[in-house]
Amino acid sequence: MLVADTLDTGGHLSADQVLEHLHAAGTPLPRASVYNVLEALARAGIASLVPHGPGRALYELSTGDHDHFACTSCDTLLDLPSRRIRPPAHPDVADVTQIAVVYRGVCAACA
Ligand SMILES: [Zn+2]
Ligand SMILES: [Zn+2]
Repeated sequence: MLVADTLDTGGHLSADQVLEHLHAAGTPLPRASVYNVLEALARAGIASLVPHGPGRALYELSTGDHDHFACTSCDTLLDLPSRRIRPPAHPDVADVTQIAVVYRGVCAACA
């Protein structure tokens, strides 16, 4: 579970950052393997894909429900406690299994 261990150290990581961590730790894995493991971890519910907008897939260990704040200036991603919103009813929606909330704005360091 090297990939999971790496996620455990780093908060929100892209596949490339996981690759770098594994390389720095002396346990490099081929890029395709890292992608496959991340996907498998996500399918198993051990890791989650962080909703961070287009272009960059970030993974984190599934640590219970939380929301995210993304700084539009420095790209920092923070965990925020979940407000546990209730999805509005819609006739075409049978069941909501995941709610992804990302707040965007400016972090304290950039303000
Ligand atoms: Zn910032
Ligand atoms: Zn998070």
